[in-house]
Amino acid sequence: MPVGTAGTVKAVSQDILEDLGAQIILGNTYHLYLRPGHELVRKLGGLHKFMSWERALLTDSGGFQVFSLSELRKVKEEGVSFRSHLDGTSHLFTPERSMEIQIALGADIVMAFDECTEHPAERERARTSMEMTLRWAKRSKDYFEAHKHECPWTDREIGKSGDRVIGKTEESVPAQPGAAAVHDSITKLTAPALFGIVQGGMYADLRRESAERTVEMDFPGYAIGGLSVGESRAKTMDMIAAVLEILPKDKPRYVMGVGYPEEIVQYAAMGVDMMDCVLPTRAARHGLLFTSEGRINIKNARYAQDQRPADPKCACRVCARYTRAYLRHLFVSAEPLAGVLNTVHNLAFYLDTMRSVRHAITLGDLSGILSGGVS
Ligand SMILES: [Zn+2]
Repeated sequence: MPVGTAGTVKAVSQDILEDLGAQIILGNTYHLYLRPGHELVRKLGGLHKFMSWERALLTDSGGFQVFSLSELRKVKEEGVSFRSHLDGTSHLFTPERSMEIQIALGADIVMAFDECTEHPAERERARTSMEMTLRWAKRSKDYFEAHKHECPWTDREIGKSGDRVIGKTEESVPAQPGAAAVHDSITKLTAPALFGIVQGGMYADLRRESAERTVEMDFPGYAIGGLSVGESRAKTMDMIAAVLEILPKDKPRYVMGVGYPEEIVQYAAMGVDMMDCVLPTRAARHGLLFTSEGRINIKNARYAQDQRPADPKCACRVCARYTRAYLRHLFVSAEPLAGVLNTVHNLAFYLDTMRSVRHAITLGDLSGILSGGVS
């Protein structure tokens, strides 16, 4: 899932995201709450309408950004008080408030309010934090269930591509061969879904306990949070493996905030269904491109006369049209187009990687992909 922090995947327009095949993108609750404000977004019809994006949207709980961006935060049982990184004003996020904001934004998937345990954390600290996340999950669910129908859309009809079905209701589907198939591919959504989040620091037994008790609350999907916070990759994998043993296989399992292309392939092979990361977009704006031949830093002088595309194996619109020499020129000249083109390629590479993973899963053989044959 590409990350669209403030109602935009930085540097890329929505029509290009559709062309790239992005089925779902993220919005960040903390940013949208501070600017332009969730009440304004609700008034304008919700985030889908505001940003003209008919496909799926997921909003995070706001907790992670509070921990990473805001100043003078204070965590209590009630919630987290903090000062805005924009203007220093005081705010309070509680599980109820996070649900209220996410429902107002109108995401399809809403995340429970959790505490991202800092790393490193002593065992007792990780347990205390995990216990609070469990209490906050219950409060999130109670508020969400009572208010989920207040989201700005009351029903969304989604076609197979993820786009809203316009003018095709049950009655208006033409009675002709294939019509049943068209009808079958339309999903009608009446309310968002709330996902629970597993925490527990870097302790496998705490992770397992957090997963068991979150599953007892019966969410339609589960996320594994608090990873990729400075621990080793082996540790990340251990934590994911421990939790996947517990989380039901027939519900979406989402690892938050990962990772490099080779990591997301590994996690998908372990049974993870969803991942999000700012890496492809953020790295692109710093001139770092992910390719089938590894990472390249486009500002490097060696590309000044390189007539090859960023990735000779990539079929994206950037690789089809521009040379490394031109991409390097744009980047070293600080042209805004550099960020656009680099981001489009990196997102294409990530989304192609996941398409390859899905294809391999369909064929029942992930071995080729795991040995590096991504594209
Ligand atoms: Zn490309």
